[in-house]
Amino acid sequence: MHGKKILALVVFLGGFSLIVFGGLYNPYSTMVSLPPGSYQGYSFTLHQGEATIFRLKSHDIFTVYIYNESGFQNAMTNGNFSLCYYTTTGDDIEIQFTPPDTGKYYVIIANFNSATYIDIDFSYGSQELWALVLLGSIMCIFAVLVVAISVREDKKFPPLDSICPYCGKRVSSEWNFCPYCREPLKRGEEK
Ligand SMILES: [Zn+2]
Repeated sequence: MHGKKILALVVFLGGFSLIVFGGLYNPYSTMVSLPPGSYQGYSFTLHQGEATIFRLKSHDIFTVYIYNESGFQNAMTNGNFSLCYYTTTGDDIEIQFTPPDTGKYYVIIANFNSATYIDIDFSYGSQELWALVLLGSIMCIFAVLVVAISVREDKKFPPLDSICPYCGKRVSSEWNFCPYCREPLKRGEEK
């Protein structure tokens, strides 16, 4: 019973570490305010094949572009926004982006669709790290369940299914000594 609780504590601490680690390395969340006709760029160094999730939410319609370095330069110098990896327009956008090469990538958020100032909630995180957070949460829940079940088992009083041969009181066959007369109940038996 004790071993189970120590194991549960180790699993809980392990799971908690995964949540902290996965959460700390997924730090980016910001509010983007854009006047009509404007855009804002964010640069990320991403590694080949490492999936990153960008989440963008607003009350208004906006457009998101993802560029590599040369596409970004093109957009900035020529105003040519077409050389992008990804573009979509909406008010609730989730992009799972897996870069084809390691390098710098640019996420551009543009208010080309609304005649008013708009606010966009922008966050990103790596999918692998969110998986660690999920795994950590499952480990913590599992550990708490193990402790809860073991505490319940501890509280259960053993059934009084036997009678003490010395004083005749009702005792449990799980007990080694009679609690009333202190005589050993399991003499000669192997524990
Ligand atoms: Zn007794």
